[in-house]
Amino acid sequence: MAVAGQNLKDQLKKLVELQVIDEEIFRYKRELREKPAEVETLKAQFEAKKARLKQLEEKLKVIQVSQKEMELDLKAKEEGIAKADGSLSLLKTNKEYQARLLEIENQKADKSQVEEKILLGYDELEAARKALEAEKAVVAQYEKDFNAAKKKLDDEVAVINDQLKVKESQRIRVAPEVRPDFLSRYERILNNKDGLGIVKIVDHTCGGCFMHVTEQVINELKKYEELVSCDQCARILYLADEL
Ligand SMILES: [Zn+2]
Repeated sequence: MAVAGQNLKDQLKKLVELQVIDEEIFRYKRELREKPAEVETLKAQFEAKKARLKQLEEKLKVIQVSQKEMELDLKAKEEGIAKADGSLSLLKTNKEYQARLLEIENQKADKSQVEEKILLGYDELEAARKALEAEKAVVAQYEKDFNAAKKKLDDEVAVINDQLKVKESQRIRVAPEVRPDFLSRYERILNNKDGLGIVKIVDHTCGGCFMHVTEQVINELKKYEELVSCDQCARILYLADEL
């Protein structure tokens, strides 16, 4: 084998070494992209629960205002009845007296209706308070889960970033040992083919796309004159047992 052949073998070895590093770099970067999604879901659930809590608070307020209004109404009615009662002795004719009595009866009937509504309102108020308390507990749990997940994510991201930095500095050491034209060819494929730029051939099969590799391609490879790519996926090929 010529000196050039040994050089190409060395270059292939360097590319394989780079590929091992790049595979991890791609994996870490993918994890950094995908991980936040899990926490986003929990965050959305937490926000939805908070919105529901707000609705329940609004509902309780509406009931409280309505109760207050009905209580004022009741007070006014009671005062009206007392006033009408007090005026009975001032009436001169039986007709006026009977009319006022009837009026008082009607006022009392109105008052009873308001009292009933107030009683129902208390039940509603109680139910709304209970629903609110229950929802507060639910929201607290969702908040706890979200915060725990967020903390876990932040910790994991920090670890991945550390590992990524290590791999990137390893890459900076190895990359300059590859011929610039080989490096740019490899990197182009790496980025186009999801982090896999150079693959080994196993049993006449491309390790990237798993398609059959012809004898002719293998013969080309064995010459070690130039980089040989897979006809199907364009990834750079190598024979593992020859390196
Ligand atoms: Zn292939």
